[in-house]
Amino acid sequence: MLFRSTRRSTDPVTVSAAIERGLAPDGGLYVPEEFPAMPRERFEGLESVAAIAARLLEPFFAGDPLEQHLDQVCREALNFPIPLRPLPERTSLLELFHGPTAAFKDVGARFLAACMTRLATGRKRTILVATSGDTGSAIAAAFHGLPGFEVLILFPDGGVSARQQHQLTCWGDNVRAFAVRGVFDDCQKLVKEAFADEKWRTESGLTSANSINVGRLLPQASYYAAASLWYGRSDGVEPDFIVPSGNVGNACAAFWARAMGLPLGRILMSNNANRVVTDYFLQGEWNPRPSVPTLANAMDVGNPSNMERIFDLFGTADELRKVSHAAAYDDATIRETIAAGPRRWQVVFCPHTATGLRYREEHPEGHAVVVATAHPAKFETVVEPLVEHEVPLPPSLRELMRRPAEHLTIDPRLSEFKQAARSAWG
Ligand SMILES: *Cc1c(COP(=O)(O)O)cnc(C)c1O
Repeated sequence: MLFRSTRRSTDPVTVSAAIERGLAPDGGLYVPEEFPAMPRERFEGLESVAAIAARLLEPFFAGDPLEQHLDQVCREALNFPIPLRPLPERTSLLELFHGPTAAFKDVGARFLAACMTRLATGRKRTILVATSGDTGSAIAAAFHGLPGFEVLILFPDGGVSARQQHQLTCWGDNVRAFAVRGVFDDCQKLVKEAFADEKWRTESGLTSANSINVGRLLPQASYYAAASLWYGRSDGVEPDFIVPSGNVGNACAAFWARAMGLPLGRILMSNNANRVVTDYFLQGEWNPRPSVPTLANAMDVGNPSNMERIFDLFGTADELRKVSHAAAYDDATIRETIAAGPRRWQVVFCPHTATGLRYREEHPEGHAVVVATAHPAKFETVVEPLVEHEVPLPPSLRELMRRPAEHLTIDPRLSEFKQAARSAWG
């Protein structure tokens, strides 16, 4: 199976090349050339997400150097529970937050790391990541201690919560974190400048772990496959999936699983006040805009890059509307939904997941799986006052919070970043 660019002006490549490159050379995003049909009989007797992932992803890895490693990669990356918790009223919660850093980004980050170690050529690689919160910690956790890899994390100084900052800065060894005096866009700009610095790029083997990497998207399709199969086996129906969305990678993975014939109903996206996707459904026009900060900060995206893949899959807004929809909720609604959550749904959830449950409250027909993207304890300063009790940390985060933390603060200038990166490793 080959992967082509959404912009179609570069040669298709196999999956490992698409993983190595991240972005296609023509500026487009890699997508599979086709979606092979995977009827549910192909998954008979398979129960765990890891086993279902290995079967689902087989066609995409066929003929690639990673093919022989796929089973092991899936077992290694998907080694934590992904439960489907039944809630009231034909609703279930797909809990993606039981990994090392308590957000769904662990799935993609761990899969990417498991692939990259097997592609390692012996030369050093430096993973460069700009983060507004969850991505950086998931990448750090996934690559921490892996021989041959160094990780440089850039985050906006004062722009992440205390707990998030600790999770970015507590690693040591081959992981270094830098607080940038600026906002997330300044961090991203530094990453771009670093990649444009030919000498640094080749000497350090700079590599991106961006969320547009197919190595992060493909494994995400497998929990949609698993959840739809489990649901079908126990209830005999195809539930809709409600996905709290920002850069739309997670929802894109759901569309991919559906395109392979897995028993998913509609894919519904919930947004925060960054409502560009919602407006697209309402108006049929794509109008990206600057992002605005919200309580669900991992979804503060004004120009979601993965929409390019969804446009590629559906062609027109009318085609997309047949199987999908979106709605947006402001911070006041997110607060209200979290506060009413324990009574309404008998669970405490994070601000991102709140948008999904709100969508469900407003569209209660049929069966639905709401995707829980992060553990509520990651956002304790928002959640605890609203539910009026402490939200205990999951064991993995408790462990991280005990580690000592360390970081350097830099100005958003490439020369300073370069020097700081060098001194970090002596
Ligand atoms: C990244 C993230 C999202 C948004 O996912 P996308 O794939 O960017 O749409 C939602 N919730 C949480 C907790 C996240 O970390």
